[in-house]
Amino acid sequence: MFKRQFGPFDHKVWLASPTMHGEELKYITEAYETNWMSTVGKNINEVERIAAEKAGVNYAVGLSACTAALHLCVKLAGEKLYGKPPISHGALEGKRVFCSDMTFDATLNPVVYEGGIPVFIDTEKDSWNMDPVALEKAFEHYPEVKLVVSAELYGFPGRMDEIKRICEKHGALLIEDAAEAMGATIDGKQCGSFGDYSAVSYNGNKIITGSAGGCLLTNSIEDANRARKWSTQARENAPWYQHEEVGYNYRMSNVIAGVVRGQYKYLEEHIAQKKAIYERYKEGLKDLPVQMNPITEGTEPNYWLSALIIDEDAMCKQVRGEADVCYRPEEGKSCPTEILEAITSINAEGRPIWKPMHMQPMYRMHECIGREGTIRCRTNAYIAGGVEDVGADIFQRGVCLPSDNKMTAEEQDRIIEVIKACFD
Ligand SMILES: *Cc1c(COP(=O)(O)O)cnc(C)c1O
Repeated sequence: MFKRQFGPFDHKVWLASPTMHGEELKYITEAYETNWMSTVGKNINEVERIAAEKAGVNYAVGLSACTAALHLCVKLAGEKLYGKPPISHGALEGKRVFCSDMTFDATLNPVVYEGGIPVFIDTEKDSWNMDPVALEKAFEHYPEVKLVVSAELYGFPGRMDEIKRICEKHGALLIEDAAEAMGATIDGKQCGSFGDYSAVSYNGNKIITGSAGGCLLTNSIEDANRARKWSTQARENAPWYQHEEVGYNYRMSNVIAGVVRGQYKYLEEHIAQKKAIYERYKEGLKDLPVQMNPITEGTEPNYWLSALIIDEDAMCKQVRGEADVCYRPEEGKSCPTEILEAITSINAEGRPIWKPMHMQPMYRMHECIGREGTIRCRTNAYIAGGVEDVGADIFQRGVCLPSDNKMTAEEQDRIIEVIKACFD
């Protein structure tokens, strides 16, 4: 039970905020001085070259956001699988798509943009990522499904290679949402290189940032060129504005690209800082009834967000409604809400674990499949009983901790003390 006994920081310690180094300004200035203040220029070309090289894929397409990249991934996959839809129809109209459940909703919203129906795959307890066993079960129910969208959570990958193998076995394409996992590896292979189409993010809170932006990654030059064309309003090669298909205004700005270009040099440094933060938490919290993000064998995380989960028998009672929460403080126990309140009280920022998609009101009628192999949805819900809802459980017991690169060791130690005091 937390009793206030720690003073607040005089500045906010963020969950994850942009960390600039100066070089970004050089490239922005270069864009300004040469007047490439548009969606064309050297910075974009360089970002595409570096992004592809870092991820170990052939091509990268610079876009305004990772969400835009995921949308174009979905369109490419949809048209490859089902052909070009009639105008005013989505590329996945009425098709089921297997999607990560415990992720940020931008992973799968693009499936809905294109008329697809997300079916959620429950989370693997040991990795907090999509459960390959549950994915196999899902294909038993729906062998006709041809697309899987899977994300790495918090920069701690599970076995995306196993997910890919299952997709190949069932003749399905894989979209890898590596927004949180840039620089992380599985058996030495970069996240962002497992999907038939993959996406990375330069959003302000990610491991490196352009303030915004993202890249679509692929090994196919035809697909890269189509995505690039769609992203610039799908103009045909003609003296006037000529259009054969629907376009988007999704291209990355050359100014934003300057920031990204400057940041790429610091990716490894940022990962090292995030790793040190994770390890300091792990050491500092080792006597508490909590576990940090699991590290899957053979993987090297980028440690983007440190998170913990409270052991079941150390949870005080916590009840969440759709938008509010109530808990009962208890000696020797705690819960995410209490820990978040305690962290907030010293002017630091935490956050609950991403609320699983199958629990979101928007997707309440959508199916979710777990490793036990039953199709669950709110209507038959978990009423059936005896079914382990891994995502809901991690959400109930998990907290994302302040993981900002610029947090000092002293600041982090105070946060650790505050967390410890919750279990007094
Ligand atoms: C941040 C994030 C996105 C969206 O990235 P943007 O660049 O902000 O569009 C998508 N998926 C996941 C898992 C994310 O964390």
